[in-house]
Amino acid sequence: MRPMWTCRTCGLSMIFRAAQPEVDEDGPYFLCVGCGARNALVNIAGHLGKTVLKQPEE
Ligand SMILES: [Zn+2]
Repeated sequence: MRPMWTCRTCGLSMIFRAAQPEVDEDGPYFLCVGCGARNALVNIAGHLGKTVLKQPEE
């Protein structure tokens, strides 16, 4: 799994800890620390009660 997330808007790569993931009605996402764009994430957890976020491949 990739240790970095990449903003789909400005292309900035950031360590996942730098961009705190949030969840809203559309699902998990993180806000780019560079341009503030919303980048969708997916939960790939295989077990109940566990959350594993991953940035979907384009
Ligand atoms: Zn950005």
